Amino acid sequence: MSPFDTVITVDWSARSAPSPKAPTADAIWIAVAEGGSIATHYLRTRAEAAAFLADQLGAALREGRRVLAGFDFPFGYPAGFAEALTGQAHAFAVWEWLAQAIEDGPENANNRFDVASAINQRLPGMGPFWGRPQTLDLPDLPEKGRARVGHGFSERRLVEGAVPRAQPTWKLYTTGSVGSQALLGLPVLQRLRARFGPDLAVWPFEAPDAPIVLAEIYPSLLDSIVAAEPAAVKDEAQVRVLARALARLSDNHDLGALFGAAPEDAGREEGWILGAGAEASLRAAALQGAGPRALRNDCFALPQGVDWVPVDDALAQLRREMHAVTAPAPCDLADAAGRILAEGVRAARSHPPHANSAVDGYGFAHAATGSGPQALPLVEERAAAGGGPVGPVPEGAAIRILTGAALPEGVDTVVLEEVTTLEAGHVRFNGPVKPGANARKAGEDIVAGNTILERGTRLGPPELALLAAANIGSVSAFAPLRVGVLSTGDELVRPGTGQAGTPDANRPMLLSLAGRWGHEGRDLGIAADDRAALREALDDAAGRADAILTSGGASAGDEDHMSALMAAEGTVATWRVAIKPGRPLLLGQWRGTPVFGFPGNPVAAFVCALVFARPALSRLAGGPWLSPAGRAVPAAFKKNKKPGRREYLRARITAEGAAEVFPSEGSGRVSGLSWATGLVELPDGAATIAPGDPVRFLPYSDFGL
Ligand code: AMP
Ligand code: MG
Repeated sequence: MSPFDTVITVDWSARSAPSPKAPTADAIWIAVAEGGSIATHYLRTRAEAAAFLADQLGAALREGRRVLAGFDFPFGYPAGFAEALTGQAHAFAVWEWLAQAIEDGPENANNRFDVASAINQRLPGMGPFWGRPQTLDLPDLPEKGRARVGHGFSERRLVEGAVPRAQPTWKLYTTGSVGSQALLGLPVLQRLRARFGPDLAVWPFEAPDAPIVLAEIYPSLLDSIVAAEPAAVKDEAQVRVLARALARLSDNHDLGALFGAAPEDAGREEGWILGAGAEASLRAAALQGAGPRALRNDCFALPQGVDWVPVDDALAQLRREMHAVTAPAPCDLADAAGRILAEGVRAARSHPPHANSAVDGYGFAHAATGSGPQALPLVEERAAAGGGPVGPVPEGAAIRILTGAALPEGVDTVVLEEVTTLEAGHVRFNGPVKPGANARKAGEDIVAGNTILERGTRLGPPELALLAAANIGSVSAFAPLRVGVLSTGDELVRPGTGQAGTPDANRPMLLSLAGRWGHEGRDLGIAADDRAALREALDDAAGRADAILTSGGASAGDEDHMSALMAAEGTVATWRVAIKPGRPLLLGQWRGTPVFGFPGNPVAAFVCALVFARPALSRLAGGPWLSPAGRAVPAAFKKNKKPGRREYLRARITAEGAAEVFPSEGSGRVSGLSWATGLVELPDGAATIAPGDPVRFLPYSDFGL
């Protein structure tokens, strides 16, 4: 069975009116897992959800993607029911019957209790369906399960023996009334069957090998794992965790164990819960699924036959292939500074939670005021932020109110203290005052349940304030990326030690870059130009870093041991990138850990790190792809540039706002790096630049420095 490209999990709802605007529990939640990431959707009506699902499935079919869609309501009823109701002992006969009988409006108004009552009436005895609002006058549908007699069906399906906490399908009302969800869900599935024909199979009634497979799910199977997931609404975490687990099982070609767990008996009438009987592997996948995906083995492979890779092509490949490699885990807000969100965050609280005053002044009902001089009697109470509840304020009266105080009942408008006078227990001011003046509305800033930050956001001071204001105490964040930095070369010595040789300039520079970019630098020292030493250094690095930056030995010369060793024992691609300074860039993996091998020359190493390592490391850490914005400035230099390589010149901005470049282009001149405040980027092709011509200046700050 080929794996599913998309996994959808649906938490259905039997609500009789649209769910609230702000996302809430006991509503429809849908998770869509695709390409390693998961999006969750909150839908307010079944009609909206049905349209959403049809769209998703249709798009997948057009694009040749396989989809597994799971629904959290029973696909069948205890044995014997299908035949008693329809004359045919098959679940689909019930689906078709219900699709005819159930009416479900665009706003969720539906006739499910009437239909259940009608079914009870057709069948012997009292039951099997039970549970309804007391106010409904349906004598054939008992309010209490105990009232049922003589209907003759089993209380539970076979699968509910394996999943004892699941609610029986006959129960239509109050806690866990999955019976109502089935009555309102099966007609939707029946219409999907009709729409997609042979492209859609319903497991276990049909083999799960069509492009679209529908299956019954039970998200509570993973409750212990869901409990550790930060989410504003548990239902959202449930669909997300289950989608993640199923997607992971599918990727690993392990779904067969789940599909294989259904006994043959369940395959006609009753159905089976995907994962029942295979809970351990589902749970393992949910836990493992929380972890990162490995990079593809060939993620750095260059297209065949390319000699010089243009910078943009190299960047495009890195952008395509690099993704988060560190594990997401719950993280307290107190420890979250600088961390990257592994999941989007929804507000747990509106901000402000209540309408409140924006100023110190006097509050009143606007309706009782008019133009000209106003005099409102003051009530004795005072409204202050954090004070106890006050009011109500009678219409025509006013109350002393301070900034941030919740508006008491009867107050919708506040007049600023400075424009008032107090006299004989009255507050005086000139009208008219604008209705709602100086009053902040509840939720005008943040609405509870709305997404306030997206996955991949790095949490800086503004984001921390936002999360705290939205009452979020913990988020799901990627573990910090550990970036190992290794220098290679027999000539290198530690700076300041008095040893003869070339002081190692690249290591402090690259470690500092990693830190500036929000990663955890790991100093891996200096390795000699010797295969065994390098091998040992890389093994050590792969054990304690998520990405390795090396410098030196990246070319194809006799002493370029880094490229030789990687070629022999790692996966490697030497990219002859059309860039100056730079050129040979060694990209590969050592025991699965990505390695970025830079030229030894400090200027080249610096430029290549800014251009290639910064965006690639951001992606590996779970963050976005990053590109410097740059700006056009007039050149304060002249230059004839040859075609073939993109060039980066060390540059700074003159008092006149033009870009001057470091007098020597020699890439050995480390002093130019610090002299400069950015880089001028010259295009791949030939260029003739005269003073005053616009050039692209990339300040160091555009590279996160
Ligand atoms: P390589 O890429 O190993 O051929 O080195 C190119 C040049 O950069 C040589 O002059 C090296 O001595 C120098 N070099 C290599 N690594 C470093 C380093 N970590 N710090 C300073 N110079 C280096
Ligand atoms: Mg060397």
